[in-house]
Amino acid sequence: MPPRTLVLFDIDATLLDTQDAGVVAYEMAGAKVFGVAFSFTNVPLHGRLDSENYADAVRRHGLGIDHAQHVDAFKSAYATALEKVAEDRGGFEACPGIVPLLEFLVGLPDVQVGLLTGNWEHTGRFKIRAAGLDDSIFGCNAFADHGEHRDELVPVARHHFQSMHGAAPRRIIVIGDTPRDVQCATAGNAESIAVATGVFDTDALEETGADLVVEDLLLTATLLEFLRR
Ligand SMILES: [Mg+2]
Repeated sequence: MPPRTLVLFDIDATLLDTQDAGVVAYEMAGAKVFGVAFSFTNVPLHGRLDSENYADAVRRHGLGIDHAQHVDAFKSAYATALEKVAEDRGGFEACPGIVPLLEFLVGLPDVQVGLLTGNWEHTGRFKIRAAGLDDSIFGCNAFADHGEHRDELVPVARHHFQSMHGAAPRRIIVIGDTPRDVQCATAGNAESIAVATGVFDTDALEETGADLVVEDLLLTATLLEFLRR
């Protein structure tokens, strides 16, 4: 029997904590490619796509160039910078409860796990491995490479699921730490679990209308009950 439920994980502050390594790497890559250290001070990045952050930085620094022409160079410099930051820090940390939760979900025959993230694929997968997690378990994914805005990403993952399993999933559950994760779930007719392991606390996440709000992803009775519905 093919799986019926697609569980989509955000990466930053949901699967793992990079302590803002991505922002440090953005700054380094901006300096390398454009000779300007990109600054993201007072820029709310949470839940946005890498591609949005990059295009926005090019605009805000008044470079007056076509960012699309330089995106490959920037992605490459960003990947190199991120690897350096990860190495300097001895890797990234998986969030509380993630390892047992992923083991549990992978063991369920009716569940397919995937990624729905603002990261570009190459560097998103790198972050996962740098946190000691196995990126190969995520089968139906949507990355920043696949859309202009996060709200476009649930249909991408649904399409991958349908291609892989021959039928649409009965449920799609998006798990993320920001209002944008919940918003993209709503836009894509998916359910949402909001987790307060990022900068938003449970009160702020309750306001998003998420189907379930939790402090962390420890496999509690509440989380289990929701996943088994
Ligand atoms: Mg996140």
